[in-house]
Amino acid sequence: MSNLHDPFDNVLNQLQEIKTLAELKEGVLAVLSAPKRFIEVNLPVRMDDGQVKVFKGYRSQFNDARGPFKGGVRFHPNVDESEVKALSAWMTWKTAVVGVPLGGSKGGIIVDTKQLSIGELERLSRAYIRALWEVVGPELDVPAPDVYTTGQIMAWMLDEYEVLARRHRPGMITGKPVAVGGSKGRVQATAVGGLQVLMAAAKHLNLPEKASVAIQGFGNVGGTLAGLAYAAGFKVVALADSKSTIYNSEGLDVVAVENYKKQNGTLFGFPGSKNINDILTLEVDILVPAALENSIIVDNVRDVKARLIVEMANGPITPEADKILAEKNIIVVPDILANAGGVAVSYLEQVQNAANYYWSEIEVLQKLEVMMAEALTAVWELSNDKKITLRQAALLLAVRRVAEAMKSRGWV
Ligand code: GLU
Repeated sequence: MSNLHDPFDNVLNQLQEIKTLAELKEGVLAVLSAPKRFIEVNLPVRMDDGQVKVFKGYRSQFNDARGPFKGGVRFHPNVDESEVKALSAWMTWKTAVVGVPLGGSKGGIIVDTKQLSIGELERLSRAYIRALWEVVGPELDVPAPDVYTTGQIMAWMLDEYEVLARRHRPGMITGKPVAVGGSKGRVQATAVGGLQVLMAAAKHLNLPEKASVAIQGFGNVGGTLAGLAYAAGFKVVALADSKSTIYNSEGLDVVAVENYKKQNGTLFGFPGSKNINDILTLEVDILVPAALENSIIVDNVRDVKARLIVEMANGPITPEADKILAEKNIIVVPDILANAGGVAVSYLEQVQNAANYYWSEIEVLQKLEVMMAEALTAVWELSNDKKITLRQAALLLAVRRVAEAMKSRGWV
């Protein structure tokens, strides 16, 4: 799918769309059309059977006008250059929208983590940092978790970095376990921010109290959001992991689903649910794509029936599909706003690391709420003022902020 819908082409198309509105000069557009630095690494890893296997990895440092590059590392078989570049651009917009003094970057390794032993996973994670340690760091570029990377992986990466740097530098990476300088609240931050945005949008659209929700993706973002939405009283009617989709029109007991997934490793066969093929075209009030990019595309967009879409994945809707959703009057809360809670708390994690003083979970989540509310209001008002979609407004806001920083620095 990613070849048909090249993710970085999507980034460029999105930029073209707001070029006139943002009054972007050609020079600014040129800088924002390619990463500042793109690195490919080939990582030899000793496998448990004694053989050496080489894994390909990338780091795309897109823009650091507003502060150090910031963005996660994805471990997935479909990682490629274009995807990593696109994700690094979206991180640049995201940090700008949520107003943290950071730029944007992203990394990835082409690997199916389900095929690795724990030891192999550790050696691969360390190899990635060994290859890149001179271009990452608290004042340079700050990695974090993404698809199929965890707090444990961040801890190995931190350790490898600190061994090489011969000093403690906890702020070189975020999403770490609390035991090694992570922030309380970071694990659930993306979902907490997402629920805040979802509730604000649902209220704005006058959706029913017990609005129905379908969530695609059951990882740290989709799975946590499912639990939070259920606890908040939404009727979660459908959930999908990477292999199956379960549905119950009366609503699923998400706590029971979580336990079932823990025990069985899959959603398939959850008692009282029906297995269905397609979560995206269900008759629901709210649809939450929380998996990978290019879920809603020209081929399926006409069948989407939700009234509100909250993008918890990065880039789940292609620009062509996005236009059709706008024509159908379906409100889309864009990724760079909806899922910004993760990087917002990553920033708070770095602040705590720099001060070597740590906040309670409540303090962290309160700060997150304020940051999300400010971003939401700014985007919503701009969208009303200019009569543009929320995505256009979020991108416009972001690009203006990045362009202003570039201008102040004399880059453009
Ligand atoms: N990978 C997450 C994202 O796409 C978090 C990035 C971060 O905290 O740096 O937003």
